[in-house]
Amino acid sequence: MDRSEILHELGLLPIWRLRAPTPASPREDSVPSTVAPAARPTQELPASASDRLRRIATLEWRDFARDVDACTACGLCKTRNKSVPGVGDAHAQWLFVGEAPGAEEDAKGEPFVGQAGRLLDNMLAALGMKRGANVYIANVLKCRPPGNRTPEPSEAESCRPYLDRQIELIKPSLIVALGKSAATTLLNVEATIASLRGRVHRYRGVPLLVTYHPAYLLRNLPDKAKAWEDLCLARATMQRMHADANQPPPLQTEVPDPN
Ligand code: URA
Repeated sequence: MDRSEILHELGLLPIWRLRAPTPASPREDSVPSTVAPAARPTQELPASASDRLRRIATLEWRDFARDVDACTACGLCKTRNKSVPGVGDAHAQWLFVGEAPGAEEDAKGEPFVGQAGRLLDNMLAALGMKRGANVYIANVLKCRPPGNRTPEPSEAESCRPYLDRQIELIKPSLIVALGKSAATTLLNVEATIASLRGRVHRYRGVPLLVTYHPAYLLRNLPDKAKAWEDLCLARATMQRMHADANQPPPLQTEVPDPN
């Protein structure tokens, strides 16, 4: 028996492979609890890069969109029309994260406003939710990659501090990663979406679930049923967290006074 057959027999497949950490991405809790955390980068950042990280890490909402709009950390600022920081309830319990703006988002400055966005709105409606009401929608990248190409890892790493700051400001109870690109970037693993669905991961301490990207679902209609399963799991996870938070504290056992 070779190694993969043994792992299969033991029910230990699939294996997720951690990506090599990049120097500009020190972060915590970014991997599933079942995988060892990536080694922390030790390389010093140049002063301007660390100043940028410090500035973003302390941004308040009132300055957030302006800061994103002024960002020149990667080449996408040269080709985009509008930056797309995110939209929704600043204290939402639900945070949906996609890959990057497309053409319509780039024209409007708002995430998920094209056809995929309409499907996302329908998915939210099926859960009894709507954008802006206890829901925040953002992307890993705040600027459109030309021709909607897949984001380069370096672009995602340059943009990540903005998403991380959004998470700190929003304090969502649950993150839903939409599609493989968002999921594998946030979780820092090389994995198929099939292997990441159906379980609760964590990103920066926040429970994270993975589902298909709405644009993928538009091309693969039968997988809508699986996306619905994922959303039901997300709703059940949220309900369980609420139920746990509302549990009364355990009863104190009275210890008789020995005197
Ligand atoms: N796809 C995404 O991932 N994000 C958008 O905002 C639009 C399409």
